Amino acid sequence: MGYAKNDILTVKIEDMGNDGEGIGKTDGYTLFVKDAVIGDTVGCRITKAKKNYAYARLERILEPSRVRVEPRCRFHRQCGGCQIQAMDYKAQLAFKQNKVKNNLIRIGGFEADYVEKVMEPMVGMEDCFHYRNKAQFPIGEDKQGNLAAGFYAGRTHDIIANTDCVLGVEENKEILECILNYMKNYHVPAYNEQTGKGLVRHVLIRKGVASGEIMVCLVLNGNGNKKGDFLPEQDRLISGLKKVQGMTSISVSINAERTNVIMGKEVHGIWGKDGITDTIHMVETKNFTRTGQGISYFISPLSFYQVNPVQTEKLYSLVSEYAGLSGRETVWDVYCGIGTISLFLAGAAKQVYGVEAVPQAISDARENAARNGIGNAEFFVGRAEEILPEKYEKEGVYAEVIVVDPPRKGCDAKVIAAMLRMRPERIVYVSCDSATLARDLKMLCDGGYEVSRIRGVDQFCHTVHVETVVLIQRKDT
Ligand code: SAH
Repeated sequence: MGYAKNDILTVKIEDMGNDGEGIGKTDGYTLFVKDAVIGDTVGCRITKAKKNYAYARLERILEPSRVRVEPRCRFHRQCGGCQIQAMDYKAQLAFKQNKVKNNLIRIGGFEADYVEKVMEPMVGMEDCFHYRNKAQFPIGEDKQGNLAAGFYAGRTHDIIANTDCVLGVEENKEILECILNYMKNYHVPAYNEQTGKGLVRHVLIRKGVASGEIMVCLVLNGNGNKKGDFLPEQDRLISGLKKVQGMTSISVSINAERTNVIMGKEVHGIWGKDGITDTIHMVETKNFTRTGQGISYFISPLSFYQVNPVQTEKLYSLVSEYAGLSGRETVWDVYCGIGTISLFLAGAAKQVYGVEAVPQAISDARENAARNGIGNAEFFVGRAEEILPEKYEKEGVYAEVIVVDPPRKGCDAKVIAAMLRMRPERIVYVSCDSATLARDLKMLCDGGYEVSRIRGVDQFCHTVHVETVVLIQRKDT
């Protein structure tokens, strides 16, 4: 017989699940214990019981694991953003290495020995706090009815006040406090998800870590007043925010829809520039020292930009190494965002083409090519699954190397099919979800390619997420 909700059990945690939960067994019954770490012996309370397994929450650590550490953030269990902050950093890297391996074996159907052979050690980070250059804070009322900026408690939309996330830049706190003070002083209401009323929904903050430039974008539930201002006493807000060191761009984004999507479709600048710049350098991938001048990028609020700038240099340099360019190749950068990878590779390629669905990102990409004096990069707006086949079939555009860097859901099947028809010599796959990566690699390998190198780069320390770069080669070359 099984167990029931609220039963208290003692269990030794012997494994970790993909979402960072501890896994233990008692009498063949499997427990998934949130916040428990591999190696812990814990007392846990069952939250949901099934016939052979149950979900449970950590009640008491009876014997801490060797790899358990004191988390820096007091909210880490409530927040759910840093699922593995209680694990030491080396163990975090081992967890991620295993996660990628398991997905390749289970979902991709690769042999364990093969994966072992082609997989290189995870690229970790030296100082793994305060690395995120971007944060989106919900604004609302906490349980006591106080105006608050913070994060949603795990799996809910309850706001917990915290302006000082240990992953973010230190300016976040000053900026959020400035906005909250302005809202209190001028009675500017926060948005309420239940009623759909109120004005300020979210605050996006992004910092160019190399340039020191900061952008703030307030997401608003409405279009402003007759005077043409988006916010009451807008000048008061601006005069406070522009005092923050590095402030370069203040904007608002209008999102009046009842949706979980954070940003609206339009952005209006209210002070300063329309975005910020940042620089990414090439690093030598043996010891990760910087070489070269770097490429400078303009980033507007709606464009995607990698969140961990220190690790991004390592990530792009690895992409460049895997791409193995000699100056003669035509390269496609599919899902190119603001053209970061395209421009990073352009110096070693004959021609680079980028494709990306967000129009603002493509306009940034074109500006970025110009600002770096790069003439051999061309960008197309549209869905990769439409543009790539069209360019190849109708215009005969070819590629020796294709780089893909899709969102979590992976490549559209039409993109994989188009690549298999284009038959580039090499494909470099940059992935932020190793499950969809494994699925896509299987299709590429069934289509006459083989995986020759794989390496994880830790872009998201303390979370269960892992970035992976894979070199895939055409078999007949
Ligand atoms: N390579 C870039 C961006 C990677 S993020 C960088 O490193 O900065 C993935 C990008 O894919 C995002 O910019 C997103 O807007 C874009 N995207 C999502 N779905 C897409 C699709 N179907 N077609 C083209 N681009 C898409």
